[in-house]
Amino acid sequence: MEFRFELALAAHLEATTDWVIARQLGAAVADPGSRIMDLCAVRTTESLSDRAAITSRTIPPLAVESDVGAGAAVDWRDAFDCSVEHAQSVVDRAVDCGFFEAERRNGRRYVRQTARYPDWIDSIVGIENKPDLDRPGDLDRQLRVDIALSLFDEVILATESYVTRAHLNRLPEPVGVWRFDPESGERTVVREPTPLSPDDPGIEPTNAEPLRTDIEIIDSNAKARQRRRIGERAYGKGWRVDELPACEHADVTDDGRPYCAFYDRVVDPATDCGESCPAHEPSRAPRRGPDGDPREAKPVDRRSRGYRATAKRAPAVSVSDTHRAAARVDLFESFVRTVQRSDDCWDITRKKSGWLTTDWRTANTSRRPAASRRGRFRPLPS
Ligand code: SF4
Repeated sequence: MEFRFELALAAHLEATTDWVIARQLGAAVADPGSRIMDLCAVRTTESLSDRAAITSRTIPPLAVESDVGAGAAVDWRDAFDCSVEHAQSVVDRAVDCGFFEAERRNGRRYVRQTARYPDWIDSIVGIENKPDLDRPGDLDRQLRVDIALSLFDEVILATESYVTRAHLNRLPEPVGVWRFDPESGERTVVREPTPLSPDDPGIEPTNAEPLRTDIEIIDSNAKARQRRRIGERAYGKGWRVDELPACEHADVTDDGRPYCAFYDRVVDPATDCGESCPAHEPSRAPRRGPDGDPREAKPVDRRSRGYRATAKRAPAVSVSDTHRAAARVDLFESFVRTVQRSDDCWDITRKKSGWLTTDWRTANTSRRPAASRRGRFRPLPS
């Protein structure tokens, strides 16, 4: 149910907005796999066409973050802050996708950017899908972590359920709420999201145990890097499934969703299809979209046709190296207030400094190793 809801909403947003949409992307920083956002929607600047001119694929994030520029070519081994093997793999992929060009001098390989990396990401919206609010799962905690980390500019909950006042009261205030009907494609804004602060440091829980939760302070540089990674991943991956099931009944809708002609509905190839399906009829080759690739089934390929976003150009992501202690105290207190209202309700009456393994309030987190930036919450004994 959630898969069909998610694809229907992605198709709807693609048809009604200028956003670049992708599904299931890592939405944490210290441990990116610990939080997967259902839909990530990138609002773009006028530089989208410059980004599109480089490649339609994901540019390796480390290539963008390396010391390789668009001017003089440099020896690739001096330009990366990682192992030689990893750097070589990144360089190969960057050359392959057209972001780097390479030349040989005295038997050594020099690389440079083919074009300066454009500032094409305006803002990013994280959308958590929960079609049935009567089965919320871990929704409450997920949304509170999203707000505390503030990696996205806005966070929205999308549901098919009727949203009551009680539902709204249980959700963190900054979270926007949409009601979406996947059959009719009708979307109603129940509550507008409150903009978050992705340019400020955030707090990410890194480990949760019954009597203890570890956190990490995420500085604005790390958040900016992760936001660019989300943008690049969204650009190269999109929201469509990569391959349709190898079944005679498999097809693709006009907007690129996997469709089963036998059951007459959109299907999730990973869970609905395969030999365990009673109606499965093997085909000789995986079924493809009209242009040979399900991703190309959409009516307009905005990326490959020099699509220009109409979104107003916004200032570049501000990356500040200055982390004021007061700001972090505010952030910490905000986070504690946030988690305090959740089901596992930590007690905040204990003196804050007693909870932390390090005096993070006065430390410059950008110069400290990750382990020393970790704080620790402990609830009071009952
Ligand atoms: S495997 Fe089953 S659900 Fe999937 S396309 Fe074939 S008949 Fe439909």
